[in-house]
Amino acid sequence: MQTPVTIVGGGLVGALLAQQLARRGFLVDLFEKRDDPRRSGFAGGRSINLALAERGLQALRTAGLADDVLQRAVMMRGRMVHTRDGRSGLQRYGVDDSEVIWSVSRGGLNTLLLDAAEAAGVRLHFGQSLVGADFDRQWLRFADAQGIERVRDAAVVIGADGAGSSLRAAMNEHAPLGERTEWLGHGYKELEIPPANQLPAALLRDSGGRDQFALEPHALHIWPRGGFMCIALPNTEGSFTVTLFMPAQGAHPSFASLPDAAAAERFFREEFDDLLPLLPRFAEDYDAHPVGSLATLHLERWHLGGRALLIGDAAHAIVPFHGQGMNCGFEDTVVLADLLAEAGRDTADAFAEFQRVRQPNADAIAQMALENYIEMRDSVADPHYLAKRALGAQLAERAPEHFMARYRMVTFTHLPYAYALARGRAQDTLLDQLLRGHDDASRVDLDAAVATLRATLPPLPSLRHG
Ligand SMILES: Cc1cc2nc3c(=O)[nH]c(=O)nc-3n(C[C@H](O)[C@H](O)[C@H](O)COP(=O)(O)OP(=O)(O)OC[C@H]3O[C@@H](n4cnc5c(N)ncnc54)[C@H](O)[C@@H]3O)c2cc1C
Repeated sequence: MQTPVTIVGGGLVGALLAQQLARRGFLVDLFEKRDDPRRSGFAGGRSINLALAERGLQALRTAGLADDVLQRAVMMRGRMVHTRDGRSGLQRYGVDDSEVIWSVSRGGLNTLLLDAAEAAGVRLHFGQSLVGADFDRQWLRFADAQGIERVRDAAVVIGADGAGSSLRAAMNEHAPLGERTEWLGHGYKELEIPPANQLPAALLRDSGGRDQFALEPHALHIWPRGGFMCIALPNTEGSFTVTLFMPAQGAHPSFASLPDAAAAERFFREEFDDLLPLLPRFAEDYDAHPVGSLATLHLERWHLGGRALLIGDAAHAIVPFHGQGMNCGFEDTVVLADLLAEAGRDTADAFAEFQRVRQPNADAIAQMALENYIEMRDSVADPHYLAKRALGAQLAERAPEHFMARYRMVTFTHLPYAYALARGRAQDTLLDQLLRGHDDASRVDLDAAVATLRATLPPLPSLRHG
């Protein structure tokens, strides 16, 4: 018999962790602040769809859930970049359709994971918000929607209660965790492109027969504009969730300089002329949807001995620009479930090992996610970036054992994030060196470039694909 485990937070990471622990023989109680989304409907918030990549998919395979999830997902082959002059072009993410990412509904995925956790024997407690903890006496205090509080025994507790984690606050009060939040200073707002049949036919003349979708469905769309951008991810029923990212405060353009739909509509007409007509509820959505804030969370310590541990966003919230927050959290769940199953009752060892293995990787993806914001909103339209990308693609084709774009390492392999960061830096330096004096990848002597690559960088580790 394994240790009973209490999980706080039944979002994406908490639900998947609960299922994986229950399948390994743990008695699991999961407490979630919201009502059961399977009965009350999913209370949206934040992004309503997310990009699922190989790491998340691998965790779902381990949990036996990947096929179910993929059946409800839309494949995205690459970035469809929309320039100011109204042109668009696809930049593929991988080499072929074996390297794609998937757009999934946050609500649908959460529901599926809660069903799977329940089926595996997890006891689910909804409408229970953690409001206090005593780690010495080993109890937690929860309040329901009416404010009625109940104390529950919990010898081992895992906090999967997201970026604003209440468990983290309680742990930090007990013994400081070395917490630091780095605000990005940029915020986001969600808008929606409805299914094509809800838009005037005249707008869809370029839809090329994609009757259900107003834009190419198998792509993550980006309108890069330097200091700000819009992105759009497809939903299975034909709509797209659009997210506008821009500075929260300060000089125009910022959310502060565009306080209402009237100002924002003028701005969209100037900057996103081709997108605006696809947003028939622009004014309502702009005024009704809040501006979300974005930050990176750094903690020195993720656990209190063997009594409490943080996982997912509660331990390492990151900015969303690599589409890896959930993927990283899902990767966490497999590592932790395996460690706890191996450790038997010695949770202190398992928690310490979990932090040792995962923290350098969480730090690395946090850094790469910040860098990817610049890449998405700016570099994807920059000629030097495109030249580097083209040369990188040629090197990857000629010497695949020596070169792989960092995006591919992060998105399509299980190589540790920390490795992808370091290797990506080394490759980037080499590309700059090879392109010195050339404005175009086609002018580089490819044979010499491959020889330099082989002489400079060791082969990549062998790859474990799903
Ligand atoms: C705009 C945006 C876009 C994103 N896009 C992507 C993407 O494309 N791909 C990707 O991989 N990641 C993406 N992410 C990141 C992803 O959303 C998070 O990494 C992921 O949701 C983390 O899951 P979690 O379960 O740790 O936390 P959460 O999803 O935040 O879940 C926490 C849960 O805990 C509950 N809870 C909170 N407080 C309490 C309490 N006191 N008591 C009990 N329960 C509580 C909440 O109700 C919630 O259900 C995006 C994030 C944002 C903001």
